[in-house]
Amino acid sequence: MLLRLFTCLAAALVPAIAFAEAQSTPATSTAAQSGRITIDYVAPTNAAHKPLHDVLTKRGALERIQTILSPFKLPRDLTLRVKDCGMVNAWYDSGVITVCYEYLDFIKKNAPKTTTRSDVSPEDALVGQTYFVFLHEAGHAMFDFFEVPVFGGEEDGADQFATYMMLQLGKNEAFPLIMGATYTFQSFLRKPEITSSISEFSDIHGAPAQRYFNLICIAYGAQPDTFKEVVDRHYLPPSRAEDCAFEYNALAWAFSHLIEPNIDQELGQKVLARDWLPVPTQRPKRPPHAS
Ligand SMILES: [Zn+2]
Repeated sequence: MLLRLFTCLAAALVPAIAFAEAQSTPATSTAAQSGRITIDYVAPTNAAHKPLHDVLTKRGALERIQTILSPFKLPRDLTLRVKDCGMVNAWYDSGVITVCYEYLDFIKKNAPKTTTRSDVSPEDALVGQTYFVFLHEAGHAMFDFFEVPVFGGEEDGADQFATYMMLQLGKNEAFPLIMGATYTFQSFLRKPEITSSISEFSDIHGAPAQRYFNLICIAYGAQPDTFKEVVDRHYLPPSRAEDCAFEYNALAWAFSHLIEPNIDQELGQKVLARDWLPVPTQRPKRPPHAS
């Protein structure tokens, strides 16, 4: 199960649920605009999820994600929903992001009890992983809404979108959020050699360890000073770290061309920390040793 924590199933894999979600999508107009995101805390039928529902509601968890995504000028309505699913999962389909109480409960139960050796506090792990799953699904939503062409796997693209958005929340937010989001993968660092079935590598998502390294590489590439310790502590091997600036710049370049035109700049300045990360002014050059 741990290996699957960061997974989300494509709509094709959950046809029954996808159909149900599609039927509940609100009627929309075609003019792209901000303010089209609604939230939906579905009351749990499973009594075990009631405390989770209450905490999420009390802390305004969906409202926070709604605010982060508010600068996006959407052509249709987008709903952020938490509900009982009967499984640990999250997905995007037809204008609705669904994150199951079971998924959030799993994150909660597996969060560290105290701050870890890599400085991930219990709250960082909870909040970071929760942001990551919503923003990963938001990546799928934006690719859908804006008909973004994605070279490579869309799951990788959604991870990149989530990482980029978390970095946009500012210097003080980015480090705990990014490190918190990676918490589930940290067991790999303590057990550096794993044995997996070959079928694990057929998954539509990258292997968990790859997703971990991709995530921290982008963060380190964006702000090497802020994320210096991921290299100092050997969470990210030097051989990968040396080209992370290129990887971040390639992502920032893609975002600026494919997503940025759909962002309300005035609102974006208010909600996101737009000034602390570099945005390339030309297409980043691949490192000469890249093959
Ligand atoms: Zn996904």
